[in-house]
Amino acid sequence: MTNFCQLLLLLFSLTLVLPAVAQPAPAGAVHTGPAFDVEAATQRYLDTLTPAQKAKSDAYFEGGYWLQLWELLYALGIAAVFLRLGLGRWLTRVAARMPRPWLRRLAYLFGYLLLGWVLSFPLSVYVGWVREQQYGMSNETFGAWLADALKELALSLVFGSFLLLGVYAAVRRTGRRGWAWATGLVALALVLTVFVGPVYVAPLFNHYTSVPAGPVREGILRMARANGVPADKVYLFDASKQSKRISANVSGLGRTIRVSLNDNLLNRCTPAEVQSVMGHELGHYVLNHIPKSLVFMVLLIGGCLWAVDGVFHRLLGRYGAGWGIASLGDVAGLPLVMALLTVFNFLTTPVVNTLVRTQEHEADLFGLNTAREPEAFAKVAMKLSEYRKINPGPLEEMIFFDHPSGHTRVHTAMQWKAEQPR
Ligand SMILES: [Zn+2]
Repeated sequence: MTNFCQLLLLLFSLTLVLPAVAQPAPAGAVHTGPAFDVEAATQRYLDTLTPAQKAKSDAYFEGGYWLQLWELLYALGIAAVFLRLGLGRWLTRVAARMPRPWLRRLAYLFGYLLLGWVLSFPLSVYVGWVREQQYGMSNETFGAWLADALKELALSLVFGSFLLLGVYAAVRRTGRRGWAWATGLVALALVLTVFVGPVYVAPLFNHYTSVPAGPVREGILRMARANGVPADKVYLFDASKQSKRISANVSGLGRTIRVSLNDNLLNRCTPAEVQSVMGHELGHYVLNHIPKSLVFMVLLIGGCLWAVDGVFHRLLGRYGAGWGIASLGDVAGLPLVMALLTVFNFLTTPVVNTLVRTQEHEADLFGLNTAREPEAFAKVAMKLSEYRKINPGPLEEMIFFDHPSGHTRVHTAMQWKAEQPR
């Protein structure tokens, strides 16, 4: 289930996630020259994957397509429990015991977020823990996973309920222009969340330090300085306590923006591979991908809230009395608002994926130009195959991929290599 605060908390970590399987360089792919054949070099990389590895990776990734549909249906089921089975009316009655109207609204919002979390818990456990265990990607005990999930819940309850209280206050005062004011408030919360995220949220889940001194740190800092990124903006964090995946990310905004690499990346990749990944992450930083994505997300949220306003009012006349909803400004309508947002979120997934994937491709090119390690980058792209389908069809890549596929990335690297002056 999608709830506002989770969305805000998780929305902005532009991440290149790379799992860890040592891959030898394919024979014949390491020399450029007059006869360097980009397609053949790409194919040689793809052929390093065994049929069993490819089948497992395809199964994991294609399972994710279906999960998006199951998550949508599950969220609609939760909305039905609130609206049709009467959980929403019960919550309204419980909240009515509070002495003041704003406290009643806050109690309903808090209760909705809590009960929604409880109802979605079985699916969250399956997606977040069971499935990751099945595919050998998790390093976490169930207890450790649950502890992190409870921290996320606490943040969602505290910040999500007050944000929603503000949104409802705006909607009640501004009538049919409420969606625009709500968008403004959500945009503010989003910007604030991205700004404070690396300083106050990320350290609740992982420990952040500077990269230990040595050639790897020097290589990263050299690229950083050359591209106008301050050296104190590069961090290392202990992702291995949760996952086996290798990753790095860019997070924050303005003064808090930073590049973070995880310890799996440092421990399981060659210095050249680390360099190629960090070149990509510096690309996100230098190309201002976070502010650009924020603008895009705010426009998208605005469009979705405008659409929610329209559909909500159509449904209100017909079902409002039965579902115990008086108006759009009534918090009892939140299960319906969230159900509509979940549907719009589902429908706009290919658009969001394409925006993110386009930025990832830009960062790939920036990384190649900066780290100048096409072979290392291709090897890292192949390692992604552990959890991302390596060679999808073009339409499949457009709809489902929020990063370029392994095939696209290896091809990009080989093309870059072929065009270097000899
Ligand atoms: Zn990236």
